[in-house]
Amino acid sequence: MNEEIVRRLKEAVGEQHVLTGEKETAPFLIDWTKRFKGKAVVVRPGSTEEVSRVLKIANETKTPVVPQAGATTLTGGSIPDASGRAILLSVSRLNKVEDIDTANDTVTVGAGVILENLHKAVEEKGRFFPLSFAAKGSAEIGGALATNAGGTAVLRYGNMRDLCLGLEVVLPDGRVITALNGLRKDNTGYDLKQLFIGSEGTLGVITRAVLKLYPLPKGRQTALVGVASPEAAVELLRRTRNEAGPYLTGFELMQAKCLIRVHEQLPDIGLPGPVDDCPWWVLVEVSCSADNGPNLESILGDAFEAGEVANAYLAQSLKDSVAFWSIRESIPDADARVGNNLHNDVSLKIALIPEFLSVTVKRLREAYPWLDPSLYGHLGDGNIHFNIGSIPYNLAFENEEGIRKITYEEVVKRNGSISAEHGIGQLKREHFLQLKNPIELELMQRISRAIDPNGIMNPGKLLPDRE
Ligand SMILES: Cc1cc2nc3c(=O)[nH]c(=O)nc-3n(C[C@H](O)[C@H](O)[C@H](O)COP(=O)(O)OP(=O)(O)OC[C@H]3O[C@@H](n4cnc5c(N)ncnc54)[C@H](O)[C@@H]3O)c2cc1C
Repeated sequence: MNEEIVRRLKEAVGEQHVLTGEKETAPFLIDWTKRFKGKAVVVRPGSTEEVSRVLKIANETKTPVVPQAGATTLTGGSIPDASGRAILLSVSRLNKVEDIDTANDTVTVGAGVILENLHKAVEEKGRFFPLSFAAKGSAEIGGALATNAGGTAVLRYGNMRDLCLGLEVVLPDGRVITALNGLRKDNTGYDLKQLFIGSEGTLGVITRAVLKLYPLPKGRQTALVGVASPEAAVELLRRTRNEAGPYLTGFELMQAKCLIRVHEQLPDIGLPGPVDDCPWWVLVEVSCSADNGPNLESILGDAFEAGEVANAYLAQSLKDSVAFWSIRESIPDADARVGNNLHNDVSLKIALIPEFLSVTVKRLREAYPWLDPSLYGHLGDGNIHFNIGSIPYNLAFENEEGIRKITYEEVVKRNGSISAEHGIGQLKREHFLQLKNPIELELMQRISRAIDPNGIMNPGKLLPDRE
């Protein structure tokens, strides 16, 4: 990168927060899957004002900017290309939990706050922030907003779009929108924050947010439930939803082999008992803010009588419940240890999922007999991580195009989405551009041009290249 730009960036944020050497920039330039690698100058502003200065410099010099928070996205969205032209703007120093308002039930938080740290901070005040997923120890609020993250409690509390009441955003020209009033009702025109949520860093840099809080659940009942098929899991979901109503918080479907692999690869994570007697398992959680909520044991008892459930382990303590979630959350790590797989993050109407799974796996197996799918996900949200591995693992990657083609054909046939929560990034850009409704795509491009006329924000991700 031009030395004059580097000099100006150092002036804007302080010399020690501009990293240029190969060794010091390396940790920022590779993603969680180790698939995407890039080259860039890394800039670490410590305030909104400093972010604004950096974007002004970038805009004036037409230098690409790649926003990065925790770098856990599975789509390569926060990794620059290999040209070395870009500024990687890390928001990790914007890491203050600023204001926990227990009357308004909101928290004002910096974009660089790690999700798990936010959980701890609000719990100390008796409050609960429901967004949670396996990467919570590294993912940061700015990244979670920019990808509209979902996770394991969307069923009850919604995704980041539902959990956010306000944003502070630095626009590509350095101007700052501060909309942090924390109101639950505000009908003064377009809801602009929703444009930035899920925009994957293509419209501006999110620096702060106001998020919704909830009372800490008093009762929490968790069970690992063995079922014969995804069809049986859908029946169990229907029953649990009818009986537990809004108290149903989590409903995760997993192949038995995913649980077994977790224990094999991460022996410290124990299973509650044998799981090879059922091909599929459901992690179900019911939680409520009073002690007299629905009774999961009796719901499961009725399901057993009705033949929907074949086996079940009920958590006897909070410790058990945490252990059950730890099994679910360790599946991506366990898969990565056996060589990783092609991540797919699809959503469909819930009733269509069992048929989608059997038809698509059958088609894939006919074409690629060696494949080794790792199927799990947020069944209660209609979202399945349809991850395709292989033995040996490189075969799946060598046949990526064909595997994705079959998978997405089956998704599109059923009017589903190729990205339920991970976003598009670099990984799915070509497929997204082919499959998205052309009118919607055109509107997205127009919005991007209106807000970012110089096309500096996260080029090569989500949208087509500018001419
Ligand atoms: C093991 C594992 C499990 C996961 N499970 C889930 C899950 O259940 N649900 C789910 O939704 N996701 C899941 N993810 C994906 C990922 O963790 C989420 O997408 C997360 O929200 C990304 O946050 P991050 O801070 O790591 O963002 P990054 O990876 O740093 O960035 C993600 C995107 O947001 C942009 N961005 C980052 N910060 C900003 C900002 N301040 N302003 C503007 N744009 C910005 C980046 O340019 C990039 O496009 C999982 C990932 C892993 C590794």
